[in-house]
Amino acid sequence: MNTKDYVIKVIDKIKTRDNNEPEFIQAVEEVYTSLIPVLEQRPDLIKDNILERLSEPERMIIFKVPWVDDAGNIQVNRGFRVQFNSAIGPYKGGLRFAENVNLSIVKFLAFEQIFKNSLTGLPIGGGKGGSDFSPLNKSDAEIKRFTQSFMLELSRHIGGDIDSPAGDIGVGAREIGYLFGHYKRIKNSYDAAGVTGKSVAISGSILRPEATGYGIAYFAQEVLHEFNEDIKGKTIAVSGFGNVCWGFCKKAAALGAKVVTLSSEHGYIYDPEGVNTEAKLNYLLKMRADINGDLRDYAKEFNCEFFSNEKPWVRKVDLIVPCATQNELNLDDAKAIVNNKVKFVIEGSNMPITKEAMEYLKTHDVIVGPGKAANAGGVSVSALEMSQNVIRYSWTSEEVDQKLAGIMKNIYLSCKQAAQEYGYGYDLVAGANISGFLRVAEAMKIQGDY
Ligand code: NDP
Repeated sequence: MNTKDYVIKVIDKIKTRDNNEPEFIQAVEEVYTSLIPVLEQRPDLIKDNILERLSEPERMIIFKVPWVDDAGNIQVNRGFRVQFNSAIGPYKGGLRFAENVNLSIVKFLAFEQIFKNSLTGLPIGGGKGGSDFSPLNKSDAEIKRFTQSFMLELSRHIGGDIDSPAGDIGVGAREIGYLFGHYKRIKNSYDAAGVTGKSVAISGSILRPEATGYGIAYFAQEVLHEFNEDIKGKTIAVSGFGNVCWGFCKKAAALGAKVVTLSSEHGYIYDPEGVNTEAKLNYLLKMRADINGDLRDYAKEFNCEFFSNEKPWVRKVDLIVPCATQNELNLDDAKAIVNNKVKFVIEGSNMPITKEAMEYLKTHDVIVGPGKAANAGGVSVSALEMSQNVIRYSWTSEEVDQKLAGIMKNIYLSCKQAAQEYGYGYDLVAGANISGFLRVAEAMKIQGDY
């Protein structure tokens, strides 16, 4: 059997076994098909059955999360933690609290996290978790009760040397604070490295909230430099108005770029002056902290237009940076992007581009910066936070920022080199998959049959 047929066979087996997990299958298919040239040169990895071993999580925990709402009713949600691969370090990856969270979404995120964490060069394995609980429109007391109940079970499975969760959609500093506070009480131990994304007052890293967005901006800058361009002076369309979006807007403004859109599920705003003043950046934080936060308020506050039920990808800009959620950019959006002659799409969110849209962008010479590389700044600073916690020390924001910039540059170079080495030219999506895969595959081989 040739290598391509072998890879198709492995993917088909996963499709049959996990046939109700579309997001997971999409993520596996993208990574595994890009590995064909690698496996052609490395028959030992086929012999060792690395692909099948890598697509089966080491452990999946699904649990009940009962909690009492403000009216005194007992509610119940479902909790997840997928501990996917620990070949290069303890499982590491965020928790997502959103209504649509299910096993497929958590598995795809954990699978992506294996390669992302590998790309950072730091000793962290891949994991992810969450719940179908949304903090939107919940009171602070309800969020506290929910997170405590969630942690009661999760605490049995985590720890600085085992698995270290952090934030993701719906999980910011407030949720992490409640989660860590309860974890500490249950364990009777200040295992600070057991949860990251903590506030500075409880051993967090000073730059963790900004880290994902900053890292995306650094990655975008590397891509632009490749084409003798600079982020300074560029107009940028982004989606979402959450943590990643805010961090990206902040660094883009500092580097002299202009972010002209923000979005939610209900539409987008167009701010031709750019989301670049302290007042606007702080307003993003305020909207996010407010349980009733609505993007239309930004439009009113800063006198710009809100386009109901539309996406920002119709805008003629220099750069597009999705920062909201998976599959948020589809084939029609890709066609609009090509039509508008936008040359660069840098993925801020995880797997934001559908399979069809990705193919369309690539075949129309749009450069795509893959999320598993571009948004790896968040987990990198989480890993730095773990290091600080273990040595009971803290670095300044300048020190963290400098380390982050260095990590992002190395990630970029490793994607570029891997793509070139395996015949993909400047396909950074393939390069990220290959580079991330090789480090994990070697570590799995060294550790025998697991
Ligand atoms: P947040 O919850 O802080 O923000 C998500 C934002 O996206 C919110 O403004 C939300 O609006 C908006 N949104 C949700 N669904 C849609 C949609 N269908 N269309 C447009 N906007 C939408 O999450 P994060 O910023 O933390 O995460 C964003 C993405 O980045 C996710 O894919 C996450 O996995 C990824 N990521 C996050 C990291 C981190 O450090 N936080 C690290 C690496 C990746 P609303 O609140 O109104 O729903």
